[in-house]
Amino acid sequence: MEKRNEMRVEFDSRSVNEGFARVAVAAFIAELNPTMDELADVKTAVSEAVTNAIIHGYEEEIGKVRLSCTIEEDRIEIVVEDTGRGIADVEQAKIPFFTTKPELERSGMGFAFMEAFMDEVEVESAPGKGTTVKMRKQIGRKDD
Ligand code: ATP
Ligand code: MG
Repeated sequence: MEKRNEMRVEFDSRSVNEGFARVAVAAFIAELNPTMDELADVKTAVSEAVTNAIIHGYEEEIGKVRLSCTIEEDRIEIVVEDTGRGIADVEQAKIPFFTTKPELERSGMGFAFMEAFMDEVEVESAPGKGTTVKMRKQIGRKDD
């Protein structure tokens, strides 16, 4: 029988919820028996996407961040969504070290980490409408 499981949560765009998001995803994917490395990779990617939604998407405002995780066989798909400010040029935003908030000591490495730690990252965004980050990863791969 095919393995499939899905969770969805919504929370306020407060920094304190970054930890909640990481742990929620880590707990949810525990059924796949991820290695410590895989777990660390996924938690980092979730952190980066959620931090971006909070800091860049909503800035000083408090909005809602939606997080979902779907398990299909040995693959996970994580979606982090905000309805904040949006990104005018996604390709530019993904360039390592590109940041629009150097004054906050941002290093511009969030998207680079997501791409390094997950198998696939897709970003959809529209200025004034918000941003959706979809990330996929195979867990427990035996052939590498
Ligand atoms: P770091 O993640 O290293 O602290 P950073 O957040 O600036 O720095 P990235 O995460 O790579 O770097 O994001 C690059 C840029 O993309 C951000 O500076 C911001 O302008 C834009 N961005 C990313 N996510 C969002 C979002 N959810 N809403 C609006 N803008 C975003
Ligand atoms: Mg970032």
